[in-house]
Amino acid sequence: MTILLVEDDRAIADALLDGLRDNGYIVDHVVSGAEAVAKVKRGGITTVILDLGLPDLDGTEVCRRIRAFSHVPIIVASARETEMDRVTVLEIGADDYLVKPFGIKELVARINAVMRRALGTTSPITHFAVGSLVIDSKTRTVSLDGLDIAFTPKEFDFLEYLAHEPGTVFRRADILRDVWKTTWYGTTKTLDAHVASIRKKLGSPDWVESVRGVGFALRQVR
Ligand code: CA
Repeated sequence: MTILLVEDDRAIADALLDGLRDNGYIVDHVVSGAEAVAKVKRGGITTVILDLGLPDLDGTEVCRRIRAFSHVPIIVASARETEMDRVTVLEIGADDYLVKPFGIKELVARINAVMRRALGTTSPITHFAVGSLVIDSKTRTVSLDGLDIAFTPKEFDFLEYLAHEPGTVFRRADILRDVWKTTWYGTTKTLDAHVASIRKKLGSPDWVESVRGVGFALRQVR
């Protein structure tokens, strides 16, 4: 969780850095638009606080460039306070707008709000990698060491279910309820047959560990 502060005014930057760090945030600081875009590109930034008047690029241009490849929340912090600027900034993809001068409490509240919104709109996980085993929920494909392996729809559902938490032992009853949508325990034989088939296709029984009397867990083999 790293916040990127883009601010060329030394005094303002120092005050914000102190304030944000006092509030428990990890903060990275750059003084130009080009550096800001490069930092976001490298990844790991959870929110950007962006000044508009920068030495190289205008902040609105920085915002545009970041939006070309990233959905990271951006809060514009500027002394330009006309309604026009506010509209422009939101139109080019910023999430919020703070007019200088502002207090650290106000900024922290805005950061928490944009991060909450960002988390709420995050798409569900569609890609699981357990060592050399890769499961893609979007295309419903599985590959091992880069080679595709064909699974039946139920085999895939079961494997994907276990892949949500590799190493965790899922109970038989929960697997039947969530994957087979049934509570009929006669189907545990079906479950065992699927496990046998998956192990065979993956080339090793070790991928799907059976815990006697409990259930199954996906284990990383390689
Ligand atoms: Ca400035």
